[in-house]
Amino acid sequence: MRIILLGAPGTGKGTQGKFIEKKYNIPKISTGDILRKKIEENHQISKKINEILKNGKLVSDKIVCNLLNERLNKSDCKNGFILDGFPRTKKQAIYLSKINVKIDYILEFIVPYEIILQRVSGRRIHFSSGRIYHINFNPPKEKNKDDITKEQLSIREDDKISSVKKRLKEYEEKIIPLRKYYLEKPELKYFKIDGAEKLSNIFKKIESILNKK
Ligand code: ADP
Ligand code: AMP
Repeated sequence: MRIILLGAPGTGKGTQGKFIEKKYNIPKISTGDILRKKIEENHQISKKINEILKNGKLVSDKIVCNLLNERLNKSDCKNGFILDGFPRTKKQAIYLSKINVKIDYILEFIVPYEIILQRVSGRRIHFSSGRIYHINFNPPKEKNKDDITKEQLSIREDDKISSVKKRLKEYEEKIIPLRKYYLEKPELKYFKIDGAEKLSNIFKKIESILNKK
Protein backbone atom coordinates (compact mmCIF):
# COMPACT_ATOMS: atom_id res chain seq x y z
CA MET A 1 0.00 0.00 0.00
CA ARG A 2 1.54 3.30 -1.11
CA ILE A 3 -0.22 6.33 0.29
CA ILE A 4 0.26 10.08 -0.09
CA LEU A 5 -1.12 12.42 2.57
CA LEU A 6 -1.86 15.85 1.17
CA GLY A 7 -3.03 18.83 3.18
CA ALA A 8 -1.94 22.20 4.50
CA PRO A 9 0.39 22.37 7.51
CA GLY A 10 -1.43 21.46 10.72
CA THR A 11 -4.24 19.48 9.10
CA GLY A 12 -3.25 16.27 10.91
CA LYS A 13 -1.26 14.36 8.27
CA GLY A 14 1.56 13.42 10.61
CA THR A 15 -0.80 12.37 13.40
CA GLN A 16 -2.97 10.15 11.21
CA GLY A 17 0.11 8.94 9.34
CA LYS A 18 1.46 7.55 12.61
CA PHE A 19 -1.84 5.68 13.20
CA ILE A 20 -1.69 4.20 9.68
CA GLU A 21 1.96 3.24 10.19
CA LYS A 22 1.09 1.31 13.33
CA LYS A 23 -2.00 -0.45 12.05
CA TYR A 24 -0.77 -1.37 8.55
CA ASN A 25 2.88 -1.82 9.43
CA ILE A 26 4.29 0.44 6.73
CA PRO A 27 6.65 3.35 7.48
CA LYS A 28 5.47 6.93 7.55
CA ILE A 29 7.99 9.09 5.75
CA SER A 30 7.93 12.80 6.50
CA THR A 31 10.28 14.94 4.41
CA GLY A 32 9.85 17.63 7.10
CA ASP A 33 11.23 15.20 9.73
CA ILE A 34 14.10 14.24 7.41
CA LEU A 35 14.98 17.91 6.84
CA ARG A 36 14.79 18.75 10.56
CA LYS A 37 17.21 15.88 11.24
CA LYS A 38 19.55 17.18 8.52
CA ILE A 39 19.56 20.58 10.23
CA GLU A 40 20.44 18.96 13.55
CA GLU A 41 23.26 16.87 12.03
CA ASN A 42 25.12 20.06 11.05
CA HIS A 43 25.89 19.28 7.43
CA GLN A 44 27.24 21.78 4.97
CA ILE A 45 23.71 22.54 3.79
CA SER A 46 22.12 22.59 7.27
CA LYS A 47 22.26 26.37 7.69
CA LYS A 48 20.67 26.94 4.32
CA ILE A 49 17.89 24.42 4.98
CA ASN A 50 17.24 25.94 8.41
CA GLU A 51 16.78 29.42 6.92
CA ILE A 52 14.32 28.08 4.34
CA LEU A 53 12.23 26.24 6.95
CA LYS A 54 12.18 29.22 9.31
CA ASN A 55 10.92 31.43 6.50
CA GLY A 56 8.13 29.06 5.58
CA LYS A 57 9.52 28.50 2.10
CA LEU A 58 10.01 25.20 0.30
CA VAL A 59 13.36 23.46 0.06
CA SER A 60 14.43 22.90 -3.57
CA ASP A 61 12.82 20.02 -5.43
CA LYS A 62 16.28 18.60 -6.16
CA ILE A 63 17.37 18.37 -2.52
CA VAL A 64 14.04 16.96 -1.31
CA CYS A 65 13.73 14.44 -4.15
CA ASN A 66 17.24 13.13 -3.47
CA LEU A 67 16.54 12.77 0.24
CA LEU A 68 13.26 11.00 -0.45
CA ASN A 69 14.81 8.64 -2.97
CA GLU A 70 17.47 7.67 -0.44
CA ARG A 71 14.74 6.91 2.11
CA LEU A 72 12.54 4.92 -0.30
CA ASN A 73 15.47 2.66 -1.11
CA LYS A 74 15.54 1.33 2.45
CA SER A 75 14.22 -2.19 2.86
CA ASP A 76 11.31 -1.26 5.15
CA CYS A 77 9.61 0.47 2.20
CA LYS A 78 9.28 -2.62 0.07
CA ASN A 79 5.69 -3.40 1.17
CA GLY A 80 4.55 0.19 1.00
CA PHE A 81 4.81 3.51 2.80
CA ILE A 82 2.97 6.67 3.73
CA LEU A 83 4.31 9.94 2.37
CA ASP A 84 3.64 12.90 4.65
CA GLY A 85 4.61 16.26 3.17
CA PHE A 86 5.85 14.89 -0.14
CA PRO A 87 5.14 15.66 -2.94
CA ARG A 88 4.55 19.36 -2.35
CA THR A 89 4.99 20.49 -5.95
CA LYS A 90 3.96 19.06 -9.30
CA LYS A 91 7.66 18.60 -10.11
CA GLN A 92 8.04 16.34 -7.07
CA ALA A 93 5.00 14.33 -8.14
CA ILE A 94 6.47 13.87 -11.61
CA TYR A 95 9.73 12.80 -10.01
CA LEU A 96 7.91 10.03 -8.11
CA SER A 97 6.43 8.73 -11.31
CA LYS A 98 9.84 8.95 -13.07
CA ILE A 99 11.44 6.72 -10.45
CA ASN A 100 8.54 4.31 -10.96
CA VAL A 101 6.80 4.76 -7.66
CA LYS A 102 3.16 3.79 -8.14
CA ILE A 103 0.73 5.41 -5.73
CA ASP A 104 -2.45 3.63 -4.62
CA TYR A 105 -4.14 6.25 -2.45
CA ILE A 106 -4.16 9.99 -2.01
CA LEU A 107 -5.81 11.29 1.15
CA GLU A 108 -6.27 15.05 1.13
CA PHE A 109 -6.95 16.59 4.56
CA ILE A 110 -9.21 19.61 4.65
CA VAL A 111 -9.34 21.82 7.75
CA PRO A 112 -10.49 25.47 8.13
CA TYR A 113 -7.72 28.00 8.73
CA GLU A 114 -8.85 29.08 12.21
CA ILE A 115 -8.54 25.49 13.41
CA ILE A 116 -5.15 25.06 11.75
CA LEU A 117 -3.86 28.09 13.63
CA GLN A 118 -5.08 26.70 16.97
CA ARG A 119 -3.45 23.39 16.18
CA VAL A 120 0.00 24.57 15.18
CA SER A 121 0.18 27.00 18.09
CA GLY A 122 -0.14 24.10 20.54
CA ARG A 123 1.84 21.49 18.62
CA ARG A 124 4.67 19.72 20.40
CA ILE A 125 6.91 17.12 18.79
CA HIS A 126 9.19 14.37 19.94
CA PHE A 127 12.14 15.04 17.73
CA SER A 128 13.73 11.63 17.30
CA SER A 129 10.56 9.58 16.73
CA GLY A 130 8.41 12.23 15.02
CA ARG A 131 5.57 11.60 17.48
CA ILE A 132 3.19 14.54 17.55
CA TYR A 133 1.18 16.00 20.44
CA HIS A 134 -1.00 19.00 21.14
CA ILE A 135 -1.07 20.70 24.52
CA ASN A 136 -4.91 20.59 24.60
CA PHE A 137 -6.20 18.33 21.82
CA ASN A 138 -3.75 15.44 22.15
CA PRO A 139 -1.67 15.99 25.27
CA PRO A 140 1.13 13.67 26.36
CA LYS A 141 0.53 11.59 29.50
CA GLU A 142 3.14 13.62 31.40
CA LYS A 143 3.39 17.33 30.72
CA ASN A 144 5.88 18.11 27.94
CA LYS A 145 7.30 14.56 27.86
CA ASP A 146 7.12 11.92 25.15
CA ASP A 147 4.81 9.05 26.18
CA ILE A 148 7.31 6.34 25.25
CA THR A 149 10.80 7.65 25.96
CA LYS A 150 9.85 10.36 28.50
CA GLU A 151 12.24 12.70 26.68
CA GLN A 152 11.38 16.42 26.45
CA LEU A 153 9.05 17.56 23.70
CA SER A 154 9.92 20.53 21.54
CA ILE A 155 8.22 23.35 19.69
CA ARG A 156 8.96 23.63 15.97
CA GLU A 157 10.62 26.91 15.06
CA ASP A 158 8.37 27.23 12.02
CA ASP A 159 5.18 26.92 14.11
CA LYS A 160 5.42 30.63 14.97
CA ILE A 161 2.36 32.36 13.60
CA SER A 162 4.43 34.43 11.11
CA SER A 163 6.02 31.28 9.59
CA VAL A 164 2.72 29.40 9.58
CA LYS A 165 1.01 32.14 7.58
CA LYS A 166 3.78 31.97 4.97
CA ARG A 167 3.57 28.18 4.86
CA LEU A 168 -0.19 28.29 4.32
CA LYS A 169 0.23 30.75 1.46
CA GLU A 170 2.91 28.56 -0.11
CA TYR A 171 0.62 25.55 0.23
CA GLU A 172 -2.35 27.29 -1.38
CA GLU A 173 -0.28 28.09 -4.45
CA LYS A 174 1.32 24.70 -4.91
CA ILE A 175 -1.66 22.48 -4.19
CA ILE A 176 -3.69 23.66 -7.19
CA PRO A 177 -1.49 22.12 -9.94
CA LEU A 178 -0.59 19.17 -7.69
CA ARG A 179 -4.23 18.28 -6.97
CA LYS A 180 -5.06 18.59 -10.66
CA TYR A 181 -2.15 16.33 -11.59
CA TYR A 182 -3.38 13.54 -9.31
CA LEU A 183 -7.09 13.98 -9.98
CA GLU A 184 -6.36 13.32 -13.64
CA LYS A 185 -4.89 9.89 -12.84
CA PRO A 186 -7.70 7.34 -12.87
CA GLU A 187 -5.48 4.53 -11.59
CA LEU A 188 -5.20 6.01 -8.11
CA LYS A 189 -7.88 6.48 -5.48
CA TYR A 190 -8.25 10.08 -4.31
CA PHE A 191 -10.22 10.87 -1.14
CA LYS A 192 -10.89 14.12 0.68
CA ILE A 193 -10.84 13.77 4.45
CA ASP A 194 -12.59 16.12 6.85
CA GLY A 195 -9.61 16.75 9.10
CA ALA A 196 -11.55 18.97 11.49
CA GLU A 197 -13.16 15.94 13.15
CA LYS A 198 -11.98 14.09 16.25
CA LEU A 199 -8.73 12.12 15.89
CA SER A 200 -10.48 8.76 16.31
CA ASN A 201 -13.27 9.55 13.83
CA ILE A 202 -10.79 10.56 11.17
CA PHE A 203 -8.85 7.36 11.62
CA LYS A 204 -12.05 5.30 11.35
CA LYS A 205 -12.78 7.01 8.05
CA ILE A 206 -9.25 6.29 6.81
CA GLU A 207 -9.51 2.65 7.86
CA SER A 208 -12.77 2.27 5.98
CA ILE A 209 -11.09 3.64 2.85
CA LEU A 210 -7.98 1.47 3.14
CA ASN A 211 -9.89 -1.69 4.07
CA LYS A 212 -12.15 -1.48 1.02
CA LYS A 213 -10.72 -3.59 -1.75
P1 ADP B 1 0.50 18.07 9.87
O1 ADP B 1 1.36 16.84 9.85
O2 ADP B 1 -0.55 18.05 8.80
O3 ADP B 1 1.30 19.34 9.87
P2 ADP B 1 -0.03 17.32 12.62
O4 ADP B 1 -0.42 15.90 12.55
O5 ADP B 1 1.35 17.64 13.11
O6 ADP B 1 -0.32 18.07 11.22
O7 ADP B 1 -1.11 18.05 13.55
C1 ADP B 1 -0.97 19.43 13.89
C2 ADP B 1 -1.38 19.63 15.35
O8 ADP B 1 -2.78 19.39 15.48
C3 ADP B 1 -0.70 18.68 16.32
O9 ADP B 1 -0.43 19.38 17.51
C4 ADP B 1 -1.72 17.57 16.54
O10 ADP B 1 -1.61 16.99 17.84
C5 ADP B 1 -3.04 18.31 16.38
N1 ADP B 1 -4.10 17.52 15.74
C6 ADP B 1 -3.97 16.69 14.68
N2 ADP B 1 -5.16 16.16 14.33
C7 ADP B 1 -6.06 16.68 15.18
C8 ADP B 1 -7.49 16.55 15.35
N3 ADP B 1 -8.22 15.77 14.54
N4 ADP B 1 -8.09 17.24 16.33
C9 ADP B 1 -7.36 18.06 17.15
N5 ADP B 1 -6.03 18.23 17.06
C10 ADP B 1 -5.38 17.57 16.09
P1 AMP C 1 6.42 19.67 7.44
O1 AMP C 1 7.10 18.99 8.59
O2 AMP C 1 5.85 18.72 6.43
O3 AMP C 1 5.42 20.71 7.90
O4 AMP C 1 7.56 20.47 6.66
C1 AMP C 1 8.31 21.49 7.29
C2 AMP C 1 9.08 22.30 6.26
O5 AMP C 1 10.04 21.45 5.60
C3 AMP C 1 8.25 22.91 5.12
O6 AMP C 1 7.66 24.14 5.47
C4 AMP C 1 9.34 23.06 4.04
O7 AMP C 1 10.18 24.17 4.29
C5 AMP C 1 10.18 21.80 4.23
N1 AMP C 1 9.67 20.67 3.41
C6 AMP C 1 9.13 19.51 3.87
N2 AMP C 1 8.77 18.70 2.87
C7 AMP C 1 9.09 19.38 1.72
C8 AMP C 1 8.94 19.10 0.34
N3 AMP C 1 8.39 17.96 -0.08
N4 AMP C 1 9.38 20.02 -0.55
C9 AMP C 1 9.95 21.18 -0.15
N5 AMP C 1 10.10 21.52 1.13
C10 AMP C 1 9.68 20.63 2.08
